[in-house]
Amino acid sequence: MVHIVGAGPGDPELITIKGQRLLSEADVVIFAGSLVNEEILKFCKPEAEIYNSAQMMFNEIMHVISLAERAGKTTVRLHTGDPSLYGAIQEQMDAMTERGIEFDVTPGVSSFLAAAASLKQEYTLPGISQTVIITRRGGRTPVPDNESLKKLAQHQTTLCIFLSVNLLAEVKQDLLSAGFKSSTPVAVVYKASWPGEEKIIRGRLDTIVNQVKEANIERTAMIVVGHCLNSKQEPYQMSNLYSSKFSHIFRQARF
Ligand code: SAH
Repeated sequence: MVHIVGAGPGDPELITIKGQRLLSEADVVIFAGSLVNEEILKFCKPEAEIYNSAQMMFNEIMHVISLAERAGKTTVRLHTGDPSLYGAIQEQMDAMTERGIEFDVTPGVSSFLAAAASLKQEYTLPGISQTVIITRRGGRTPVPDNESLKKLAQHQTTLCIFLSVNLLAEVKQDLLSAGFKSSTPVAVVYKASWPGEEKIIRGRLDTIVNQVKEANIERTAMIVVGHCLNSKQEPYQMSNLYSSKFSHIFRQARF
């Protein structure tokens, strides 16, 4: 049996209780070493076989999984954040289905959510934006034309841009040409939730490239763009949820 598990964004306490249990029971653990905080491996059994997939090819990963299956062992494939986002798990799941290997998936706290927590920010402010776009800029992995940053950014929603801090100058150009003003607030969160390593840079489209260069941030960072970050200057509406003028199934309005 193979369990694909989301490790969370970095803080070892942000793995789910189920993810931690599966990790503590696993005979074989293959973790995505480029991003997973190795501290989380403290939950593994001392005798667990541990592999870092950053140094492995697809076939090697499948080979380790197949050997473990033949020996009747349990494997955890540990991915950063939530495995459904930029996790390259589909090809692994399809290969397991093809080989008749049973697997399941345990979700994790994605880094775009850890970034919101670090920023102490709601992404969906009434009257500002009710939509979050999760995307990346095309680089070595291309993005389909109809979802280029230039097109997506025209909606002026909150944007959480993965895998692109090394292309921040290009991101800025795309956002400006999509109609975002140079004063649009931007935050870059490096290693959100990692104890002792997190950095938060707050700026505007016209300042952020230099600020991030000065902070020497080149990877493992979330770019958050949108008017929600500016709620002091651009007031949002109070939510209806707790409003005294608004009834819902759990509560009557009280005027
Ligand atoms: N599945 C992961 C994303 C993997 S892609 C998730 O759900 O978070 C790797 C990208 O995720 C990085 O380039 C960076 O943009 C982002 N990332 C991962 N961990 C991060 C963290 N702790 N803080 C900020 N960004 C992070």
